[in-house]
Amino acid sequence: MIVVMKVGSPEVELSRISQELKQWGLNPEKIVGKHKVVLGLVGDTVDLDPLQIQEISPWIEQVLRVEKPFKRASRQFRHGEPSEVVVSTPSGAVTFGEHHPLVVVAGPCSVENEAMIIETALRVKAAGAQFLRGGAYKPRTSPYAFQGHGESALKLLEAARSASGLGVITEVMDTADVEKIAQVADVLQVGARNMQNFALLKKVGAQDKPVLLKRGMSATIDEWLMAAEYILAAGNSKVILCERGIRTFDRQYARNTLDLSVLPVLRSLTHLPIMIDPSHGTGKSEYVPAMAKAAIAAGTDSLMIEVHPNPIKALSDGPQSLTPEGFDDLMQEMAVIGKAVGRWLEPAVVLA
Ligand code: PEP
Ligand code: MN
Repeated sequence: MIVVMKVGSPEVELSRISQELKQWGLNPEKIVGKHKVVLGLVGDTVDLDPLQIQEISPWIEQVLRVEKPFKRASRQFRHGEPSEVVVSTPSGAVTFGEHHPLVVVAGPCSVENEAMIIETALRVKAAGAQFLRGGAYKPRTSPYAFQGHGESALKLLEAARSASGLGVITEVMDTADVEKIAQVADVLQVGARNMQNFALLKKVGAQDKPVLLKRGMSATIDEWLMAAEYILAAGNSKVILCERGIRTFDRQYARNTLDLSVLPVLRSLTHLPIMIDPSHGTGKSEYVPAMAKAAIAAGTDSLMIEVHPNPIKALSDGPQSLTPEGFDDLMQEMAVIGKAVGRWLEPAVVLA
């Protein structure tokens, strides 16, 4: 349920209403939007009569029921206003959100060694990316495939972060590693295979770092938003949703089916920022540019692109990784679409 306050409602009145609702056994959350202040009520509200709440104060404009099972993630919970996820990076704050410039995240699937991660970081930074994404802990389908270098790769990510000034995004697979990874990462990635690892969702929800939640490969949109709800309900409001392709009947030409229809669908359902990953979405580097540009045109807030200095030799996901030169070209092409939709931020000129 949400309690929409009238414009200009005094602070004392908001506190009084919150106090009263607490006495009713509810836990009101104050959400300050650009236009309205809303009190979100989560809990057992089925027996509550909206009219009874309306009576509490003349400053209450409206009391509405949130119909969706994902309450906090729902667009309604913020009375239609998109949320922003602000991430601090060594080069300053970067904001993910519907009314902000596109955020570009790039890097190799796995952190392989110091030279390659630093080279990749510097190249993608020079091309205009804001985040370096590389895996230290890799969720691999086969137990015999490269599993990532683990803790030692976190050190390399830290070095690449300092060398480039980029923010760092890396995956966490185990609840036991959350604190350790959060010391290095600016954003914690929960991968497709862990989208419904509820223990992990609760754990990343109970800490402060923003979370990038990838869609499970066979997850419905409702299941994905319920997974986000776990993180929000545990207290972390900084969640970014990442579409990375789903399983469909045809896998002959593309690894997955990149579901770009999530862009308008999620916009109507949730206030959370959206990222599109055309690398895992297609599985082939030659298909990545078309889908990246389509995602910008369709309104994505962010993109994740795999880039490797030598894709043929990559320890994971080489076939879908762009070379740094390929990424430079793609950034130029993306700028054209990004400018056309008013969401392109020219990279700051770095003076030598
Ligand atoms: C990745 O981002 O490298 C990855 C393993 O992605 P996903 O969880 O989408 O498969
Ligand atoms: Mn990968």
